[in-house]
Amino acid sequence: MAGNWKMNQNHLEAIGLVQKLAFSLDQDVFEKVEVAVLPPYTDLRSVQTLVDGDKLSIAYGGQDVSAHDSGAYTGEISGAFLRKLGCSYVAVGHSERRQYHAESDELVNAKVKAALRHELTPILCIGEGLDVRKAGEHVSHTLAQLDGGLKGLSAEQAAAVVVAYEPVWAIGTGEVATPEDAQEMASAIRARLAELYSSDVAGTVRVLYGGSVKAANVGPIMDQPDVDGALVGGASLDADEFAAICRFD
Ligand code: PEP
Repeated sequence: MAGNWKMNQNHLEAIGLVQKLAFSLDQDVFEKVEVAVLPPYTDLRSVQTLVDGDKLSIAYGGQDVSAHDSGAYTGEISGAFLRKLGCSYVAVGHSERRQYHAESDELVNAKVKAALRHELTPILCIGEGLDVRKAGEHVSHTLAQLDGGLKGLSAEQAAAVVVAYEPVWAIGTGEVATPEDAQEMASAIRARLAELYSSDVAGTVRVLYGGSVKAANVGPIMDQPDVDGALVGGASLDADEFAAICRFD
C-alpha cells in the first residue's frame, strides 16, 4: 500500500503524518502488508530520520526521479540521491507527470531504468483517460504504456517493477473504478507480462490499483485476484484513513 502525498505536507507536517500513521498501524498489519509513503523531496530527510530513529516498518520513496544520474539538469533529482536517503521506492510516469510535464513513454522508460540502476523499486504508473475508456480502448492504451515503460528491461529487472494501474478519470475525482474494472486491467497486465517475459515474472510483479481509493471502497478491490495493493493519493494524507486502507478489512 503506497501513499502518494503529491505536493502536500511540508517537512514538519510530514513528521506528524508519519508518526500518526505508525501509531495507527498495529504490528500485525506490517506482517501482511508493505506500507510505503511517497512524500515531496523536501520531506525525505525528515522521514528518514524518523523511520530510522524509531525503527518504523514504513518504507518511503520519491514521486519522480531524473533519467540522469548527475550533471547539468537543474531542478532534477538523481536516483542516487534518493537511494542515499534510504528510499526504496519511486513513482515513475504518474499521470500528473505525463499530463503537466509532457512525460512520454520513452522518458518514463529511461526513468524506470534510472530507478533500477540505483536499487530503487519503480512504481510504474499507467492508465487511460476518460476519452480512451469511452472509446473502449483502455486495455490496448494501458498495455502500450506498459510496453513502453518496460522496454529493454531483462526479465529480472521487469520482475522488480511494481505496476500501478491508475485510470486518469479516477484520480482525485472521487470516481473509483469498479473492482471488476481494476481486475480486468490487472489481469491484462499480468497476461502481457507473461507474453513479454514469463509466467514467473507475471506472477512476481506486484500490480496496484490507484484512483480515489478510500477505506470504504478498498476491500472489494483487494478481493480481486490480480490486484496486490493500492496507490493512494488524497486519502493517504489522513493517517487514520490510510491506516484503515492498509488494513483493508
Ligand atoms: C494518485 O495520486 O496516484 C491517486 C490515485 O490519487 P487519488 O487517490 O487521490 O485518486
